Amino acid sequence: MFKATSRTAPPPQAYANAGSRVGGRRRSSDGGHRNLKYPYRLNFYTSPPALDITLEEFETFAIARLKVLTAIHSLQERSLPAAQLRELISTQIKSHLPLSSNTARNIDVDEERRADEIGHWILRLAFCRSPDLREKFVRTELELFKQRFDSDDQYERSQFLRSLNFDWTIVDETEKRMYEKQLKACMPWGAQRDNQFASESWVKVPWYNVPDLVGPRRVFVKGGNAYVPQSHQISLVLQAFRANLERALELTAKSLPRMDEDDRLMPILGHLAQSFLSNVSIESNFFGDADDDPNSAKVTADMVDALAVKHFPACQYNLWNRLKRDHHLKHFARLQFGLFLKALGLPLEEALVYWRRGFSQLTDDKFNKEYKYNIRHSYGQEGKRTNYPAKSCQQILTSNQPGPQDSHGCPYRHFAPETLQTFLSQHYSIGTGSLEMREIMDQVKKQHYHLACTRVFEITHLKDVKKGEGLGDGVSVSHPNEYFNKSWGYERGVVKPKTELMSDDMQTD
Ligand code: SF4
Repeated sequence: MFKATSRTAPPPQAYANAGSRVGGRRRSSDGGHRNLKYPYRLNFYTSPPALDITLEEFETFAIARLKVLTAIHSLQERSLPAAQLRELISTQIKSHLPLSSNTARNIDVDEERRADEIGHWILRLAFCRSPDLREKFVRTELELFKQRFDSDDQYERSQFLRSLNFDWTIVDETEKRMYEKQLKACMPWGAQRDNQFASESWVKVPWYNVPDLVGPRRVFVKGGNAYVPQSHQISLVLQAFRANLERALELTAKSLPRMDEDDRLMPILGHLAQSFLSNVSIESNFFGDADDDPNSAKVTADMVDALAVKHFPACQYNLWNRLKRDHHLKHFARLQFGLFLKALGLPLEEALVYWRRGFSQLTDDKFNKEYKYNIRHSYGQEGKRTNYPAKSCQQILTSNQPGPQDSHGCPYRHFAPETLQTFLSQHYSIGTGSLEMREIMDQVKKQHYHLACTRVFEITHLKDVKKGEGLGDGVSVSHPNEYFNKSWGYERGVVKPKTELMSDDMQTD
């Protein structure tokens, strides 16, 4: 997690005034309707914001956007039905990056739009530095823009499009009648009746601007121009959004060396980039401060075995299993498992009892001399008295790679495929030849380890979650303690399945 300070960060344009202007969007009043600094909900992010922001805002806005982009990427990889995909993405957008229309009451729409714009520019700085990051950033930003475009108020959307001053030629009535037969031939079946033709309007653009419409013959092409009906204008807008962003990212990358000496921002940007590349959402910190969590319950050494069987994700189940089998765990395994147990609510006294039992083949003297200090240290009771957080999926997946004799790490990443299948079949009762196992192994093959883990969560919690819902609202696993909390929360009734929440809402209404 970042250490935020209240120092002021330079505005993003200090580093990245690299982006071409599409259209001439100016921030001004929206014509007297409301005196807004940001007149449109939609944004092409053509010029960097000229404002001062604090480092706290810098992190907050960037993390909120990163959560949405990572969720979009994870959901797109899950082969979900289009309607479910749209709904889950829209839920993520609403919870982390809401943008209201101009007519919204009691909402500071300018503040929402400011946060949205700053978040975009920060991630642009973070993700411009490699082709992989750029490609992923453009793809997810495009989806975010599309969702917002589709859900925008019709009037506001047309005002926004007009403000972009696109280089489109409007097809006038004479030309429309001249090519009536050809234009109708490209209309969807059933939409070709005269009244629909009469109310439709077309614009002319160079055909190479809309290859996705030209390929499947959804537009009439003549003299190098494609005739695009209003209903397909989203293609044009997305094409322009993509081209603008790709160009701007390359230019930003070139001006990036100027930032390398900024020791306040570079660590934050580096962390954001690493998180985005590892496909795992930025983690929450789990310190094991049980008193801060209203849903937490005290865990005792006697409870660990039963909890492991029902609620541990694969990485921690494996460590629990290895400790039982070998009566020992090596350093990194003890660290990974010990901090996980601390964060799930096992107090220090109970942890000492649990580990003493686990290391049953050691003498008291050896245990006290070699292991007790480390356990107390991880609880912040020795040495520098630091309260260490439990390890996130990103840390487990990317740091301290396990060797052949080690047991720490993530089974989805670090087990051989056959070993992983046997492990999942023995401990999570997932049939080796089943469709579910194939889905899991497909994600492993694509190196989407957290999605494989998320699918296992769904399969083992069929009563509470549907495929695609993950840990709730489409969120995928990013921390072993999140997995555990959700799983145990369902059993204790402190986390409610979506269907129950919906019926509760209906009763209240
Ligand atoms: Fe553990 Fe995360 Fe791997 Fe799941 S994806 S097994 S929670 S490290």
